[in-house]
Amino acid sequence: MVIVIGGGPAGLMAAQRLAEAGHRVRLYEAQATVGRKFLVAGHGGFNLSNAAPDAAQFAGQYGAAAARFGGLLARFSAADLRAWAAALGIDTFVGTSGRIFPVAAHTPAAVLGAWRRRLDGLGVEINVRHRWLGFAGPRGLRLRDERTGTAFTAEPAAAVLALGGASWAKTGSDGAWAPVLRGIGVAVAPFAPANCGAAVAWSAFFRERVGRQPLKNIALAVNDGPAQRGELLLTDYGLEGTPVYALTPQVRAALAGGGPAFFHLHLKPDLPAAALLRKLQGPRGKASFAEFLKKTLHLGGPVPTLLREARPGAAALGPEALAQLISRVPLPIAGLRPLDEAISTAGGVALAEVDEHLMLRRRPGTYLAGEMLDWEAPTGGYLLQGCLATGAAVAAGIGPAPR
Ligand SMILES: Cc1cc2nc3c(=O)[nH]c(=O)nc-3n(C[C@H](O)[C@H](O)[C@H](O)COP(=O)(O)OP(=O)(O)OC[C@H]3O[C@@H](n4cnc5c(N)ncnc54)[C@H](O)[C@@H]3O)c2cc1C
Repeated sequence: MVIVIGGGPAGLMAAQRLAEAGHRVRLYEAQATVGRKFLVAGHGGFNLSNAAPDAAQFAGQYGAAAARFGGLLARFSAADLRAWAAALGIDTFVGTSGRIFPVAAHTPAAVLGAWRRRLDGLGVEINVRHRWLGFAGPRGLRLRDERTGTAFTAEPAAAVLALGGASWAKTGSDGAWAPVLRGIGVAVAPFAPANCGAAVAWSAFFRERVGRQPLKNIALAVNDGPAQRGELLLTDYGLEGTPVYALTPQVRAALAGGGPAFFHLHLKPDLPAAALLRKLQGPRGKASFAEFLKKTLHLGGPVPTLLREARPGAAALGPEALAQLISRVPLPIAGLRPLDEAISTAGGVALAEVDEHLMLRRRPGTYLAGEMLDWEAPTGGYLLQGCLATGAAVAAGIGPAPR
């Protein structure tokens, strides 16, 4: 018998593949239901994977873990994920952004329901409200039935831990497992927020005046780093949106470095510098700053206030200085949003602690999958793809059940 702990996407995939390989599988989940974060993932678009065609570019999304993910994705690619979904009766499509979504009728609850039915059909035994507490000897797992408070020990042939990261604790991913693993000498990198908003110390005036407003078709960079394109949301605390989420590794590095940490925002990244300057050199006449920006560059909404916030006196700048400002609005970064609000978690069990099958080197027979490992990736389907690929990898590592 194999025990899987954690009923998130990584654990469910491991359980499915193990059962398909002939194992008797018992899954323990601390919460009252499985897949709570998977259900939350549906709130903001629910992308299952990404259609980025180039394998190296795809693996590159996993940053420092790219080499490891190159191998994992070769064995469980986006195409494999789509085939897996199709086998559950879930059709998928590629959106214009390259993200892979389930078709509209397939809400996260519908996907999870179909998945549960498949697991039931395979005979996977799911025990909710059972918390893993730690290890007991070389093969044993300590568990507690949360309904009765009874603790017990199980001795599976192999164990999969898929306990998630440390954000959105209310979904069950509380990171409480970290001290247990550190206790047996496993290196666990400190948790940090990934894919989250960033704080900018707006003036009280700006906060009140602007509130929440989108800025479309912008480019955003941290200090002099590479820019991310997309849509930003100005909020009362700072910035949100895909470009900011994708830049969280750079934000963390800039803040940790102790030096200056600025977002540089380009409000017209598609307009060549010379064309931008030419437009700003046109006559302003009696137009106000806001009217002029709107008329010449279609920059309306919060932009005039934003430019004044970043550079007091912006309205009086000449064309050259204004063109420079519009293509590089400096916004001082005050921090990142708290870990619990982050879409995903950086940090976790160091990849050096697991072998190519994601088995803990210090504890043969115990495998790790999903976000509890130390990797991060941007939004856009790369997170679930990574979790499912690691879930499939541990099942492949354990191999088929002995006959
Ligand atoms: C708001 C939001 C939107 C998202 N949108 C997307 C998206 O569109 N696309 C995408 O790819 N990703 C998205 N994600 C990320 C994705 O949901 C996660 O990366 C994924 O759920 C992580 O899977 P996991 O199996 O590793 O861990 P989790 O899903 O966190 O599951 C871990 C499970 O382990 C259980 N557990 C923990 N400790 C114990 C214990 N001691 N004993 C027993 N059980 C335990 C937990 O209760 C939990 O059920 C989103 C996340 C959030 C928060």
